[in-house]
Amino acid sequence: MRALVLRDFWDFTVEERPDPVPGPGEVLLRITATGICGSDLHGFTGENGRRVPGQVMGHETVGRVVAVGPDSGTATLVRGQLVTVNPVLACGTCRHCAAGTEQACRQRRVIGVSAEISAAFAELMTAPLRNVVLLPGSMPEEYGALVEPLAVGYHAARRGGCVADDRVLVIGGGPIGQACVLAARRMGATKTVVTEPSAPRRKLIASLGLATLDPRSDDLADQVATMLDGPATLVLDAVGTTGTLADAFACSDLGARIVLVGMASPQVELAAYRVSTDERTIVGSFTYSASEFQETARWVGTAPPELSRLIEARTSLDDAPAAFTRLALGDSTFSKILVFPGGPAAQAQGARE
Ligand SMILES: [Zn+2]
Ligand SMILES: [Zn+2]
Repeated sequence: MRALVLRDFWDFTVEERPDPVPGPGEVLLRITATGICGSDLHGFTGENGRRVPGQVMGHETVGRVVAVGPDSGTATLVRGQLVTVNPVLACGTCRHCAAGTEQACRQRRVIGVSAEISAAFAELMTAPLRNVVLLPGSMPEEYGALVEPLAVGYHAARRGGCVADDRVLVIGGGPIGQACVLAARRMGATKTVVTEPSAPRRKLIASLGLATLDPRSDDLADQVATMLDGPATLVLDAVGTTGTLADAFACSDLGARIVLVGMASPQVELAAYRVSTDERTIVGSFTYSASEFQETARWVGTAPPELSRLIEARTSLDDAPAAFTRLALGDSTFSKILVFPGGPAAQAQGARE
């Protein structure tokens, strides 16, 4: 198979690698499309220290079943079925796994992050059967690659206890911010605003019929309060810097919940009294539970029309290195770019088969 290999930081190459063989309880998939995530970019540049040279990354994926490995029990998957993959591999037996909070499993590994797993920027990939989630064959195939980032936003909104009468501020209008605001809307919140400095990203969010603001203004808190009919009761920070946390405090009500889902800075400084005396709650959020991933896949399977706007560009495996370089050099106005290992035209092909 052909795979996009991280030869070194800032250096991708497309290599021929042996086709993976599904082991017991595994499924072999032919990848249709895999999204480029911010964490892949930071892996590409070596910034986050969470990817290593030699690795094949990619965790936001959709593909079709090629084969099921031996001893796969009552597996009912058949060749050609459209599926996505929950990339979070949990032990399945610990306290967290038993409670359905697999994202907190201490044995957790993540497809596309853990270096020893050959992941989804390749023509083929294996995944454990229990991480494979069926999608309806009728939906636009590429939407399947959006399940993972959308599940991140859904988990963040749930971690914040989002309810219908919340006034929700989402900080950051990139793919995770988009996922956060769509999740909040799906959970019934009608008062939402997304702050985003990039004009093209604000335009994308406006095209979804959602309110946005440029955060680089002196009266941001007033503007947010005007748009939400009061200061935010729930903030989903999809950026995660000292500056965005300061905005979260400035724009939110006493007692507000602030969910830190963005990972832009490993270290932040925060105004302690805005937490203590104002009784704000800061909640961390990372990935999603298996059931949240499945719920998101079901929603994506209904092909909500707004999803078509979330995909900004499509590229082949051969053009992926250039796309990564462009993004890493600071083109932060882009939203979701999908890599099609069989070429962007292969999608239409697959749908006809
Ligand atoms: Zn991701
Ligand atoms: Zn576990």
